[in-house]
Amino acid sequence: MIKSLYIHIPFCDDICGYCDFVRVGYNDKLSDLYLVELRKDLLSLSTQYKTIYLGGGTPSSLSVQQFSFLLESMNHLVGLVDEFTIEVNPDSLTIEKAKLYQQAGINRVSLGVQTTNNQLLKKIGRTHTFEDVKKSIELLKFVGISNISMDLIYGLPTQKLDDLESDLNKLLSLSPTHLSLYSLTIEPNSQFSRAGIKEVSSELETEMYLLIQEKLIKHGFIHYEISNYCLLGYESIHNLSYWKYDDYLGIGVGASSKVNHRRFTNHHNIND
Ligand code: SF4
Repeated sequence: MIKSLYIHIPFCDDICGYCDFVRVGYNDKLSDLYLVELRKDLLSLSTQYKTIYLGGGTPSSLSVQQFSFLLESMNHLVGLVDEFTIEVNPDSLTIEKAKLYQQAGINRVSLGVQTTNNQLLKKIGRTHTFEDVKKSIELLKFVGISNISMDLIYGLPTQKLDDLESDLNKLLSLSPTHLSLYSLTIEPNSQFSRAGIKEVSSELETEMYLLIQEKLIKHGFIHYEISNYCLLGYESIHNLSYWKYDDYLGIGVGASSKVNHRRFTNHHNIND
């Protein structure tokens, strides 16, 4: 039986320089149309899932009305859910959205931090600041969502080992339950690739990886998967289902599924 459902929301308020995901700039008409199509797929499902993951893109770019519409479309799927995650960007979270997420049963947030250095955030095309990150965490905790994972990218342009250490210290000061740390990859279809930006040397990348490992383990984190660390009991059940070779279903543009040893991926083009 399939226990995990992934739903792709491809809209982003701005496009980051390193991004090669299936995403488009947010547009209210296009996102309304997309949600109507998504609803048809969601209504055709009848399984009660154990984990649901709203990823993107930026699911938090949807307005309160749009998100409410999406929730209505999936109400029949969430009765038995243990872990319900949404990816959130710090600059698109509001108190109304945070309350809506909590009321919908969302009990885990993956927050796109990437770096705590405001200048570097600007350079990589992120429109939030570290102050926005702190504010988002306050909002989430205020509404009762305390299982917060943060994404960090290392090996960013101009980044040194000290900069990464400062990022890690600042993230740890925010008491995350889970951290996902990815080394920057220059993808062929990204703005970074077109601008000729190169990845850092493999020596520096290795030093960074080792620094992350040493520091996080010292702070009580478990390195439970290549890029993921968590406090005891906070492993992402959804992520682990991929690693355990369980079946999962992906709904929406570009989403992938695995059913009975067969993997398949939806069209990448939102118009298709
Ligand atoms: S990295 Fe995330 S937020 Fe940035 S453009 Fe890509 S999907 Fe959107």
